[in-house]
Amino acid sequence: MPSETPTLASIKGIGPRYAELLGTLGLVTHDDLLHNVPRRHEDRRHLVPLSEAQEGASITVRGKVHRAKEARWGAMRLEATIAPADVSRKEDILVARWFAYRPYGIKEGCELFLYGRVIRDKKGHWLMRQPEYEIVHQDADSYIHIDRLAPIYSLTDGLSQRIMRKIMFEATQRTAFEAPEFYPAPPGLMARQEAFRVIHFPETLEGEERARQRLAYDEFFVLQCVVAQRRLNRVTGFRPRAKAASHDLTARWIKSLPFPLTGAQRRVMAEIDADLGQGPPMNRLLQGDVGAGKTFVALYAMLRAVEAGEQAALMAPTQILAEQHALNLRRWLEPLGVRIDLFTGNTKKKTDRLRGGELDLFNNGKKPATAAPSGSVVIGTHALLYDRYAADQLGMIVIDEQHKFGVLQRLALSRKGRNPDILVMTATPIPRTLGMTVYGDLDVSILDELPPGRTPIVTKCRASGELEKFWTFLHKQLGEGRQAYVVYPLVEDSEKVEAKSVKAEFERLKGVLPDVRLGLLHGQLRGDEKEQVMTDFRAGKIQVLLATSVIEVGVDVPNATIMLIENAERFGLAQLHQLRGRIGRGEHASYCVLVGEPKSLEGWRRLKIMEETSDGFRIAEEDFKIRGPGNIFGTEQSGLPPLRFASLERDFQLLTEARVGADRLIKEDPTFSQWPGLREKMGSAQVVSLVAVS
Ligand code: ADP
Ligand code: MG
Repeated sequence: MPSETPTLASIKGIGPRYAELLGTLGLVTHDDLLHNVPRRHEDRRHLVPLSEAQEGASITVRGKVHRAKEARWGAMRLEATIAPADVSRKEDILVARWFAYRPYGIKEGCELFLYGRVIRDKKGHWLMRQPEYEIVHQDADSYIHIDRLAPIYSLTDGLSQRIMRKIMFEATQRTAFEAPEFYPAPPGLMARQEAFRVIHFPETLEGEERARQRLAYDEFFVLQCVVAQRRLNRVTGFRPRAKAASHDLTARWIKSLPFPLTGAQRRVMAEIDADLGQGPPMNRLLQGDVGAGKTFVALYAMLRAVEAGEQAALMAPTQILAEQHALNLRRWLEPLGVRIDLFTGNTKKKTDRLRGGELDLFNNGKKPATAAPSGSVVIGTHALLYDRYAADQLGMIVIDEQHKFGVLQRLALSRKGRNPDILVMTATPIPRTLGMTVYGDLDVSILDELPPGRTPIVTKCRASGELEKFWTFLHKQLGEGRQAYVVYPLVEDSEKVEAKSVKAEFERLKGVLPDVRLGLLHGQLRGDEKEQVMTDFRAGKIQVLLATSVIEVGVDVPNATIMLIENAERFGLAQLHQLRGRIGRGEHASYCVLVGEPKSLEGWRRLKIMEETSDGFRIAEEDFKIRGPGNIFGTEQSGLPPLRFASLERDFQLLTEARVGADRLIKEDPTFSQWPGLREKMGSAQVVSLVAVS
């Protein structure tokens, strides 16, 4: 059994003052110290002869103290001179100076390791200011600061790197501690306790990497156990499902379509049917690039619920999108006699209407006075989540553009109704590692076929001075009846950010393009204003829509074929891909121009990827590499506990192995009863993910 881990006070060198300082860094227990991973290691193993030193470089030197002089002036405390045998060669003399504190034990005649940056002083000697030092002694294993890979830690005022390193050395190398195995770890991995020793004070970089992998595996293993358990619970906690429904509505709807469904759409619909036929509720992720036709799949799933006498809800990340969905779905569903209600929480009038009981779904949390109407569809934004929304009959939830929501929002919605079926849709391909963690409890369907008759989008990157031709081209296209988007990163000009804003450019372009009907759309407009602008754009009353990224998701106006994105360098690649997906939706050729002033070659290379490919998956992986998962998927709000050792970008292999291991363990021992330490860690992983959202 694991014994108590030592407390901080039992560690040599930690008095009340340091304990307090460590506390400000969140380091309270011995276990915290173990997890206080160095930011990096500095390689201080290679001795450099002073005759080969380079000005400005940080180097390790070894030498005998020729003279040690206590200084009394200013802040300087000690000056030590290290001189070669031939003292006359002043270029090889090193002067080390310490300020603020007097290093302990440095005397004439003793031998030192020094590490620091060397510069030439006025006299032509080498000079090191405040170098790290170590007095050479017999026990070569006990060097902490020099002649080794030295850990560099995060610090706080009053705690120097040197003190911190000493504390960490005591805590990890000299004080007994236990880091017990808490699950059956695969052979071949470094022991957990050893890994903690090595991660702080490794002998080699390879050793450090093996230690990191061991601890990363532990993190992934806990995560995968949580995911495995979520999957298991899903299978056991299902609701009584409405009797097998007829295909009455769905058959009529499909017949009414002016074009055939794509093969991929039909395949995914069959996958949904298979889910609905079995006991446990559906929990499915639908991935499909922009324009692949996910809305029809959603519509199918919702109609299946309506056929079974249940309600369906569709949640979209923006009001514009919710309204567009409502418009679309009304067109298809009202002829079939299915009622559709829109609930965005933005439009007061509507909310009141809903609250007033006209729609029995929303009843301020009280039991509905009358049974909620079955066989209807409600469309909304995340207001659906926060309103006390009593939907007894809710049997199907579709979440559009899931990457804009968190996992917990998804879970919150699924708690409404009684274990409803859930379909989450996303156009941003989910990198494999996140697919296995944050989304690991979902079955996956892929829409990998675009509807026929799309012409590929021609994409060009331009510097802002090169737009003359664009405006001519735009005029010509508008003359042929097409429409366009121009996208800006900002709503208003800002002193802090050097980028164009949609409001300022709207005023400017009115002068430049007097004969063009311009429209303005951004997040600061009221809900009904936005709605009006979109209606006008759809109807062709607006020819060119100037917008912010509010149009990023889902907006579908097939006659719009041109997009200009200003300050493209300010958008992420995945976001550019989403924006670009607003065009190329109809029969006419489409053109996208990215205007940017990237500061670096790397920035240009990044934008150029957009010229080269329209493969959303490749774009997402590139984006993921550059910006990390948190920025793209809001992993923090999506419920992933912080990972200290593991990297979602690099450790795919480890993650896969951890998943296999976790699946095997849960089969043998579904409640992890043999491994209380594991259960405890799983508990805190869940808690972290809940706290992250609330
Ligand atoms: P997304 O997957 O980006 O949500 P949408 O569902 O908005 O895509 O569909 C994009 C466009 O393709 C819409 O205009 C839609 O009417 C059209 N569409 C969808 N399915 C088909 C199909 N099978 N054949 C032709 N057009 C389709
Ligand atoms: Mg869509």
